[in-house]
Amino acid sequence: MLRVGLTGGLGSGKTTVAGMLAELGAHTLSADEVGRRLMEPGEPVYAEIVRHFGPAVVGSDGRLDRSKLSGLAFKEGRLAELNRIVHPAVIAAQEAWARELAVQEPQAIAVVESALIFEADSGGTAPGWRSRFDRIVLVTAPEALKIARFVERMAGRGLKREALEADARARLAAQLPDSEKMKLSDYVIDNSGSLEETREQTERIFRALREQN
Ligand code: ATP
Repeated sequence: MLRVGLTGGLGSGKTTVAGMLAELGAHTLSADEVGRRLMEPGEPVYAEIVRHFGPAVVGSDGRLDRSKLSGLAFKEGRLAELNRIVHPAVIAAQEAWARELAVQEPQAIAVVESALIFEADSGGTAPGWRSRFDRIVLVTAPEALKIARFVERMAGRGLKREALEADARARLAAQLPDSEKMKLSDYVIDNSGSLEETREQTERIFRALREQN
């Protein structure tokens, strides 16, 4: 099995590329989705967040109020605290998924899509992502395009554009710049063009990955 980390900043097109890789035959897991699942009531991560940040982060439906939490994280400088609770659990779930897949499909190309592959390990001298992934694929696009695509996608959900743009900038500022991520990646997909151009690059990389598997 080949374990592939698929990363890229907010709005870069990771989910889009993950979908293309899945169509080509890769097995994919979204760290975002895992994180959302682990933050549901009843999960240990949920309990730890409520214990740490207080009951004000729980909405009237009993779920975590994500906009309140992201306000605490990004506007009140408490992102590191939130990450310390969420990241280890998300990584453990990714590892469990990969272990199970390795048993069931030894020839699988296992792709974990995550905005924070490098950042989740910050501070370590021998970063854990190197042992978790055999290859890293980075999806890039100019920052303005990332923000525009993010705003476009979220505006459809009835949120205000100015607030979304500010939110996007704050999130991007907390991510390692692409220039740094490129140095740590094996493959780079330039998603500044059409979906068709991105698909061609993705197919080329998938073929190369399969040859190494
Ligand atoms: P996030 O980190 O916010 O989850 P992401 O990196 O997963 O974002 P996507 O959700 O794949 O990014 O893409 C962001 C938006 O841009 C989506 O609405 C997607 O449909 C659109 N998009 C992605 N790539 C292209 C492209 N090449 N041309 C036009 N639109 C695109």
